[in-house]
Amino acid sequence: MSDLRDLYQEVILDHGKRPRNFRKDESANRQARGYNPLCGDQLQLYLQVDAGGIVREASFQGSGCAISTASTSMMTQILKGKTEAEARELFDKFHELITGERPSGRLDQLDPADLGKLSVFAGVKEFPNRVKCATLAWHTLKAALDAKDEPVSTE
Ligand code: ZN
Repeated sequence: MSDLRDLYQEVILDHGKRPRNFRKDESANRQARGYNPLCGDQLQLYLQVDAGGIVREASFQGSGCAISTASTSMMTQILKGKTEAEARELFDKFHELITGERPSGRLDQLDPADLGKLSVFAGVKEFPNRVKCATLAWHTLKAALDAKDEPVSTE
C-alpha cells in the first residue's frame, strides 16, 4: 500500500513540476478563472468545445501548489474528446473521490483508464486542507462549461 502511495505521489509531483497543456489558447470558446484563497492557487482554464458539445482542446495557465497544478494538468489531459456531459460526470466522480463520498457502482459509467488517472488524488481526502487545491481545477471547469461561448479576453 505504501508503494502505491509513493507511485501516486510520483505522478502528482511529475505533473506539478511539468504541467501538461500549460498554455494560453487564443482559440478557446469557453474559459474561466479559478482562485483558491486558502492556498493562493490561481488558474485560467481554456476550452475549445465544438458544435457537438465535445471538448476538443483544454489548456491552462496560472500558478499554484503541486497538487492544484497536477490536478489541472491531468484534468486537461482527461477532458480531450469528452462530451460536456461526460466532463460534468467526471467532476462529480472526482469530487466524490476527494471527499470520500463515492457511492460504488456509479463509477462503472466511466472509462477505467480515466479512473486510473483520477485515482492518484484519492489520498488527498486524508488532508482536508488540500481538498480545495485538488478540486479547484474542476470547479473552474464547471464554471467554464456553464459560460456560453465567450471569446478569450485579451487582458
Ligand atoms: Zn494549493
